[in-house]
Amino acid sequence: MDDRVRIDALARRVRGEFPLLGRTLEGHPLVYLDSASTTPKPRAVIDAVTDYYERCTANVHRGVHALGTEATQRFDAARLEAASLVGAAPDEIVFVRGTTEAINLLRHALSLGPDDEVVFPASEHHANWLPWRMNTRPVPMPIDEDGVPRWETLELLLTPRTKLVSIGHVSNVTGCIAPVAEVVHAAHARGIPVLLDAAQSISHMAVDVKKLDVDFLAASSHKAFGPSGVGILYAKREQLRGFPLYQVGGGMVALNEDVLGPAPSHMVPRDVPFRFEAGTPAIEATIGFGAAIRWMRALGMATIREHDMAQARYLVARLREIPGVRVLAADMPPERRIALATFVVDAPGMTQENVARALGDMYGVCVSGGHHCAHVLHARVHLEGTVRASPHVFNTTEDIDRLVEGVRDLCS
Ligand code: PMP
Repeated sequence: MDDRVRIDALARRVRGEFPLLGRTLEGHPLVYLDSASTTPKPRAVIDAVTDYYERCTANVHRGVHALGTEATQRFDAARLEAASLVGAAPDEIVFVRGTTEAINLLRHALSLGPDDEVVFPASEHHANWLPWRMNTRPVPMPIDEDGVPRWETLELLLTPRTKLVSIGHVSNVTGCIAPVAEVVHAAHARGIPVLLDAAQSISHMAVDVKKLDVDFLAASSHKAFGPSGVGILYAKREQLRGFPLYQVGGGMVALNEDVLGPAPSHMVPRDVPFRFEAGTPAIEATIGFGAAIRWMRALGMATIREHDMAQARYLVARLREIPGVRVLAADMPPERRIALATFVVDAPGMTQENVARALGDMYGVCVSGGHHCAHVLHARVHLEGTVRASPHVFNTTEDIDRLVEGVRDLCS
């Protein structure tokens, strides 16, 4: 099937489910090409959140009344959905605020010191960079002139001091997919665990922690059609049980015997994953996340990925046609990238951030502009900023054509 037909057939089928896409921007129909930043939400997710408010607003794992029971059932169902999305058991999934908190929680849990090294590509998002320079020695892997990690250097960087290899599954700047199997093989051969930052992958392809054999995984709901404010950290049950406590407070404790005497005596946390979930969680966001996962799985991750590859091919090919545009990692084949293209526009007198702003203001096309939380990548490839277009399953070829038209105008 022709890419155009394939892309539009699925996009037209689903786009009516996204209320956001019905609005206009500066008098133009909205073209939303910023899903790597956050995805729009389908009606099923909006309804799940609204229904919680309207039908069973209550706290979870605490209430004895029926509303509490209903809210808890919906909340617990989301954990089952999240676990099955990534091939884990429910008690191996800790709900956190998002990928950033998941990685910071892991940093705390691994109790690394100043002599411990963490190896990660120099192209990583700040969320998978800055935690590793807090009381730890960061070891960034070199990247090429397009910002793609030079994976062949990995083995040279692993030393007896390496305590973790941490990689983005999909780069939020280039859209390239990491060679996870090779990385895991090299790290595990030396007894080093691997963290997969799946923020940019879980909504684009099937991700299975057991098949990939990664030790830890971090992801966010809001980049996968769900609400913001919730995400997951995956770790094997026994590993989680060995982690020190993170935040403490209500909901994570099984027994507190301090009441028996004047001095603190005895506190028993609940089993995993609850011991890492102190306080009232993001209940409605988590329920919405569950609905988002059901929505993606009903569509089928394989179907989404096929669409994604066709879209990647179309997007990169169309942008490359424009004189004055340089697409990063343009030669990376669709099998090794997602539908995301970051590019530099030679628009006289304009920064890349201004180009992105102009696309919104003048054409109704929403893209990202700037450094995309990857300052080091931009510095190393000598770019002061880039524009990023990240379509998803609801975007038609017409949307991409509108982007191309706008970029062409700005170049001329
Ligand atoms: N890692 C990657 C690859 C990302 O793209 C992002 C979000 N842009 C993050 C981590 C951080 O995710 P969050 O802001 O949801 O914590």
